[in-house]
Amino acid sequence: MSPINERPDQVGQKGLFEAERFAALLEGYPEKMDQLESFDPQVISLLREHAVWRAVHGSAEAEAGLTTQCRWIEALAAKCTSTAVLVQSQLTVGHTILLSGSPRAGELLDEMRDGTIWGWGLTEAEAGSDILSMKATAHHEGSEYVIRGSKRFISNAGIATRYLVFARTRAERSSKSISAFVVPSDTQGLSISRYEHKMGLRASPTGDVVLDDVRVPASSAIGAIGEGVGLALSTLRWSRPLIGAVSVGVARGAFEQLMKVVGPTERELSELIDSHQAKGHRLAELLMQVLAARSLLYDVTTRADISGELPSMWEAASTKAFCSDVAMKVASDALEIAGREAVGVGAPLHRYYRDAKILQIFEGTNQIQKNAIMKELGSVNFARR
Ligand SMILES: Cc1cc2nc3c(=O)[nH]c(=O)nc-3n(C[C@H](O)[C@H](O)[C@H](O)COP(=O)(O)OP(=O)(O)OC[C@H]3O[C@@H](n4cnc5c(N)ncnc54)[C@H](O)[C@@H]3O)c2cc1C
Repeated sequence: MSPINERPDQVGQKGLFEAERFAALLEGYPEKMDQLESFDPQVISLLREHAVWRAVHGSAEAEAGLTTQCRWIEALAAKCTSTAVLVQSQLTVGHTILLSGSPRAGELLDEMRDGTIWGWGLTEAEAGSDILSMKATAHHEGSEYVIRGSKRFISNAGIATRYLVFARTRAERSSKSISAFVVPSDTQGLSISRYEHKMGLRASPTGDVVLDDVRVPASSAIGAIGEGVGLALSTLRWSRPLIGAVSVGVARGAFEQLMKVVGPTERELSELIDSHQAKGHRLAELLMQVLAARSLLYDVTTRADISGELPSMWEAASTKAFCSDVAMKVASDALEIAGREAVGVGAPLHRYYRDAKILQIFEGTNQIQKNAIMKELGSVNFARR
């Protein structure tokens, strides 16, 4: 049962218009931030000023549902993928904290609503798709845990003031060997050793978080010791639809931008069938793809909100893989259709294309999504969903 509680009759609606209005304020920032490879502090201020984190998390009394969160993420991503991912990553950490049932959950979520930025530290140099290969360790010493290791490709590295770090609490390769800990960024021994220069999501900082004998109180453990893998996997059932929402936003944003660049003129529309059918059909096909991805996303999120349960893994993985493949297809075709108008550095279609590729890779590659779907093929039951 998800701890998220949203009345079915309100599902998603409250987020929709507010999110679109806020996203319009991002105009002008995405391309500049993409080129500078960093967030404009003004964007972070706007998020705080307009209490976006309060809107997406909901209140202590009623957490926002998955549909509302996805509405927000879609609207943000349609304008700026990096900003959408900044907000999405907080929602992901927030959901892990909620699922953990930690006595600190209320306090930590309140801080998130106030805009505390978090990083989620699972991946390592030799542990990407296969998280059980993780090498970082956490040893219990008296009333503390001592964490040693290095996390790679961590979003919000350097701007986060707290990290949710996964580390091995038992040596053997088992799903009961990994635990999750909250580590404030100013803890002695935590540092950022390098940043990635990426093709896409360039404003979103991604870096290596080094944990050099970092000592945290035993109460920093989130969830029971040994339950980190279960926690991470349950979180993915929430966070993969959120990446679906980023993807729908990118697909939609690329389509909207394409229409600005090459959308048919009034005269062309009247002659569409005769002279411009080839282009018109390509635009129609892209629109159908965006609609299909969007329908899948909100079908899955609405079912989850109405049932009060997390989406199943096969639904979450299908949403992530399908929507990010659509984002890639739409962004790629849009770039091709717009031609020379879109290839220049600073052209929005160029950015959507580079951002879309990353959506197929992170939060589990789309091959890993297919593995997850494959494992549950036997339990797919449309009559019960
Ligand atoms: C921009 C960005 C931000 C990120 N942010 C974070 C973050 O905040 N926190 C975090 O913990 N991680 C983060 N990651 C890491 C991300 O989740 C991993 O990149 C992802 O899980 C894939 O792991 P990998 O890159 O090590 O690829 P690998 O696991 O090395 O996979 C390489 C290739 O092999 C394929 N493959 C691997 N195993 C299988 C299999 N069993 N079956 C079929 N194919 C397989 C993969 O699909 C892929 O094509 C981020 C990554 C990126 C690019």
